[in-house]
Amino acid sequence: MTLTIGVDIGGTKIAGGVVGEDGQILARARARTPGDDAQRVEDAICEVVEELRGEFPVVAVGVGAAGFVDETRSMVRFAPHLAWKNERLRDRLEERLAIDCFIENDNTAAAWAEYLFGAGIDRPDMVLVGLGTGIGGGLIIDGRLYRGEYGIAGEFGHMRVVIDGKSCECGRSGCWEQYASGNALVRNTKDAASKSPERAKELLAFGDGTIDGITGPQITDAAKSGDEFSREMLAEMGEWLGQGLASLTAVLDPAIYVIGGGLSDAGDLLLEPAREVHKRETVGSGARPVAAIVPAQLGNDAGLVGVADIARRAWAGADPDLPRKLRVGDGALGVHVRVSAQDLARRVKTRVERKRRGLHGAVITEDDR
Ligand SMILES: [Zn+2]
Repeated sequence: MTLTIGVDIGGTKIAGGVVGEDGQILARARARTPGDDAQRVEDAICEVVEELRGEFPVVAVGVGAAGFVDETRSMVRFAPHLAWKNERLRDRLEERLAIDCFIENDNTAAAWAEYLFGAGIDRPDMVLVGLGTGIGGGLIIDGRLYRGEYGIAGEFGHMRVVIDGKSCECGRSGCWEQYASGNALVRNTKDAASKSPERAKELLAFGDGTIDGITGPQITDAAKSGDEFSREMLAEMGEWLGQGLASLTAVLDPAIYVIGGGLSDAGDLLLEPAREVHKRETVGSGARPVAAIVPAQLGNDAGLVGVADIARRAWAGADPDLPRKLRVGDGALGVHVRVSAQDLARRVKTRVERKRRGLHGAVITEDDR
């Protein structure tokens, strides 16, 4: 079994795992995300990888990060929470770790994991919508990972849903994530609680008692235990979710929407209103089938598992954005397709370096010559 390491860079922690072809995590390591200092984040990634590969013969490393990752999985063009701008992360990690590395957007990786091992199994037209502080996304089209020409497809959060609407961190206004995301939920709930504090009494009892201190998980907890105010807030969020999904359906007509991210913990309290609005607002409603809207299954592991699998396939020359028949899981492991001369040179370099350092996987295969 070919093993790879997946590393997921979150806002507070860097989670790594050794992942097998079946998506199972064999070992884990983690480090705290050291603020937004790019150098220290890189150090922490290396520590996590070194800890894991001491025990397992891994062939490649995948790193998932929130942000725009270029089409060659080498460079982080821009990351909202890290000081990375056109950062050649792949080169730097390969230099330090002497192993093939691949960078991927975290939601794109999560989509791939849900498609292979989670809620999207056998649904080759699947859309993942990650509801965190903002909205991220990933696309599976006809069984392939769709990344777009420049690697940036699936940034649904910045689809405009309201002209001259709420201003967004991206510098524009009316973006979907300003209406349907963890941040939007907390902001709306604080506003509503300030206007009618008596309605928010039960909700406040679930947190530190202040309106300022209201958090997303607190709203979900209160709603689950029956608090009407919190339920209304989540339902409103679900309606905005459904509105945006109806637009996506008009473009993509997928079989299934897999809803991930922290906000998806709310389950049907969020998804049922989304389903209703999505069905009603979809073009041709009543005369066509519409996509199912289901919660993600892999939770916090989706990004890690997905990016580890992407790294394994990319390492084998069978990228998941190639046609399905060339996928490793269908028996194409070892079929080296679309490996550029540059990638070959890179691969030989990392393996020679590995051999020099006496690390696992130092063999240079025929394919590399
Ligand atoms: Zn925006």
